[in-house]
Amino acid sequence: MDIRKITPDFAVAPQLKLRDVEDVAARGFKSILIIRPDGEATDQVSHSRIISEAKLHGLDIQYIPVLSGWIEETDIEQFREAAAQLPGPILAYCASGARSASLWALAQAGYMSPDAIFDAAGAAGYDLMGIRSRVSSIEQNDSRRGNATVKHTVLIVGGGAAGIATAASLRTRQKDLDIAIIEPSPDHYYQPGFTLVGGGIFHPREVIAKTERLIPSRVKWIRAGVSGFEPEINTVVLEDGERIEYKSLVIAAGLQIDLDAIPGLQAALGQNGVTTNYLADHASYTNQLAKTLMSGRAIFTQPKGPFKCAGAPQKAMYLTCDTWRKRGTLKDIEVSFHTPGAALFGIDAYVPALRSAVTRYGIDPHFQEELVDVDGARRVATFETRDEEHGVRRVERAFDMLHVVPPQCAMKFIAASPLANNDGWVDVYQETLQHKYYPNVFAVGDCAGTPNAKTAAAARKQAPVVAANLLEALKGRPANYAYNGYGSCPLIVSHGKALLAEFSYGGQLDPSFPNWLVDGRKPSRFAWWLKTKFMRSIYYHLMLKGREWLAKPRRLRRASDVPTPAPETEQRAA
Ligand code: FAD
Repeated sequence: MDIRKITPDFAVAPQLKLRDVEDVAARGFKSILIIRPDGEATDQVSHSRIISEAKLHGLDIQYIPVLSGWIEETDIEQFREAAAQLPGPILAYCASGARSASLWALAQAGYMSPDAIFDAAGAAGYDLMGIRSRVSSIEQNDSRRGNATVKHTVLIVGGGAAGIATAASLRTRQKDLDIAIIEPSPDHYYQPGFTLVGGGIFHPREVIAKTERLIPSRVKWIRAGVSGFEPEINTVVLEDGERIEYKSLVIAAGLQIDLDAIPGLQAALGQNGVTTNYLADHASYTNQLAKTLMSGRAIFTQPKGPFKCAGAPQKAMYLTCDTWRKRGTLKDIEVSFHTPGAALFGIDAYVPALRSAVTRYGIDPHFQEELVDVDGARRVATFETRDEEHGVRRVERAFDMLHVVPPQCAMKFIAASPLANNDGWVDVYQETLQHKYYPNVFAVGDCAGTPNAKTAAAARKQAPVVAANLLEALKGRPANYAYNGYGSCPLIVSHGKALLAEFSYGGQLDPSFPNWLVDGRKPSRFAWWLKTKFMRSIYYHLMLKGREWLAKPRRLRRASDVPTPAPETEQRAA
């Protein structure tokens, strides 16, 4: 088979035989584009037989029949759309490969310089000088030149929990929608499992998956990072300066773990007893400390401001204490918990059970205390405390183990963009998740400027709402579906029991299960079993696959509930 690569992501070939298809898959191609119309030759395999064979080998495939010597404008447009939709690398075939190469060249016109186009085709053995003037005229007339090089109907920034769930929910609703996800990382992290790595329940490899395997089929993965947004011209700017245009944008880029906000923390982590469950490569050190510390002082902290999973700082502490209890060392370890807040948890209903756990393990809680400095070598943590008697002061505390939950903030590239609110989060309506000033922009997950708990559970409920509202917006209709602020956090209090905290906006309890099955306010085996045995499967097999179990989007109750987006972007600046 004479396959000729024109770019790393695109190659051409002459007519395929049925048996060639397996070879195409084995060579790493992910898609086939059939350019040759059926019936050009008597020995030609029909497109439908090639399509069936390609599906058997897991390849994506599209048929864009183009007459020999007669490439129409609509062919070029269809080719551009197909190339944007299909996962790469793509192999296009026709009679000799030349028609596919010409079509590629015409589709690139305006996006690559003519010299670069003809050099790439020439290196693959195709002399396309016959279409040089047509390529040049497309290039000169193309008004998009200089702005975006690629266009997608839906562009999702971030392929973490929320981004992939939204792509899957969109794909479930509309199979042929052109969607691309911009995600720089080849690895995907199941972050709710970090607590379980820290507690010695999961192996670290159980929280990592390959991004490539999670991107829904027929969704394009653009492996790059975004550096900025130009919402006035519907464009996203990548770190290498490339621009991508969209009709609708979903921002799902998570948040920033801000290690630099505490001097000394970054350098101290991973040694001298300093650890965090908030970073994948440090969580197992928490478990190591739980298994090796025999006596001394252990400090657990919680930061100020919004952070992922409000219960995770305490989960780390209770699991560690429970390990020490089982090993008989808890009595020799002084444990304290330090939070800038005034209570153990923001929702009163869960506080009594948490207070019992604190008492049971002999933990000393310190409220209105914030970690502000870590000296790993001296094993000293500095806190800023405030009380009526002394006002604000700094207190040094020695430790043998320090579990830190680092401060968290909005991603810098979002905060610096016109899409951010004053705190740097994406400025969306809390029900519809639609941007307040750019109605074709949505936010989902941790980056959204909404007052819910930043959890994967929230993203699970938000993704279908964003998918449904975005499709309405593409049809020119108002956002009609509402997110109620649901968030959830199985608050583990021992190896074997957890509270199933589930709540929505305003701290309303929002249980998914009937009270006779589980009362979320009391430690139960059911909640433990859900967290340790089932959540990971729900995440990978339901949420990231667009199966909206207990997450069907609800319509806004009344027409008057629909927030009206500001008609003019300028209103914002005014
Ligand atoms: P992420 O999953 O973080 O994904 C953001 C994605 O954006 C990443 O893949 C990142 O690479 C990408 N990105 C970043 N910068 C760019 C850029 N410039 N361009 C393009 N892409 C970019 N939730 C629960 O529901 N229950 C729990 O028990 C729970 N426990 C937790 C315990 C811990 C220790 C932690 C850390 C989190 C926990 N969470 C829990 C929270 C939950 O994991 C997050 O809320 C969830 O992952 C948020 O999803 P997201 O897609 O918004 O962000």
